[in-house]
Amino acid sequence: MQNLAHTILEGVDQDVERRVNSCVERFRERVRDGVKDAYMFTLGARKNVRHTISISIERGDAVLAGVVRSDDSLGMALSAYRDSIAGGLSCIRRLQSAKSSLQGVPGDELDAIYPDEESDTLEQFLVMLDGRIERAGIVQRLMSLTTDFLGAYSPAQRSGQIVLNWGLIGLLAPRIDVSVEALTLKVLAHEYAHALSHLGVDANGEHWELEAFWQADVYVHEGLANYFSAAALAASDDWWFREALIALERMVERQSEPYREFNRWKNDLGARPEGVRAALRTARTMARVSNRDFDQLLRDYSGGR
Ligand SMILES: [Zn+2]
Repeated sequence: MQNLAHTILEGVDQDVERRVNSCVERFRERVRDGVKDAYMFTLGARKNVRHTISISIERGDAVLAGVVRSDDSLGMALSAYRDSIAGGLSCIRRLQSAKSSLQGVPGDELDAIYPDEESDTLEQFLVMLDGRIERAGIVQRLMSLTTDFLGAYSPAQRSGQIVLNWGLIGLLAPRIDVSVEALTLKVLAHEYAHALSHLGVDANGEHWELEAFWQADVYVHEGLANYFSAAALAASDDWWFREALIALERMVERQSEPYREFNRWKNDLGARPEGVRAALRTARTMARVSNRDFDQLLRDYSGGR
């Protein structure tokens, strides 16, 4: 399905790539430092080895290829144009309401010139296209994944790489009614949070060894990434960070369970930042942290609630 994914992403406004790039350029250090502060970790040299985190920006074809289906190619391919189709529909409906409110205006000429049939046909056409997009369900397919899709974090020995998928960010942003910039910042903060979980140096000079990091449960990884990225975004008084937090909340509502895990920590386990940090420091010393292990650590460090 590589070709269909390619077709869909060709429909995303090419300017999104530039916007994602300039957003990363402008905010990467502030996002990194904000996330670092939320963890209360450092990213400095340890034993003369510096932990480095690089960032690259891709379109995301391979990720999208994993979710598209060939039995509804049209609905899928139209997904990139959902904004234009919805805009056309809303325009027609506003014209219709303008027409009805103008009825009875003296010297009424509107009926004579208003293209009734054409607008009805166009409206039906756009409704049909919109329905095809909804049924193709590309957004739901992406949201149901239990892996990151707008970006990714690839850990290596004492370093890591963050990737941002601008094509998928451009495809999704209008669907959850946030700007490309807000969604980019949200993804950047989330991936930096994975990177800090792994490479952030605690008060004992420790980080998460690569093998143990790989072995930890996805609920623990995504729980930590959303917990600390949300904390970092909430701690800033920058307007863009607040917008990114809204983007995070809109995504969490629709994503799979691992991404909602951090809310369970807060709401059901009464987890507080110092408790989550302490649980993480202990978890990093374990060979394989399960979801249940981490729950127990959170209870232990949250006063037994
Ligand atoms: Zn993640």
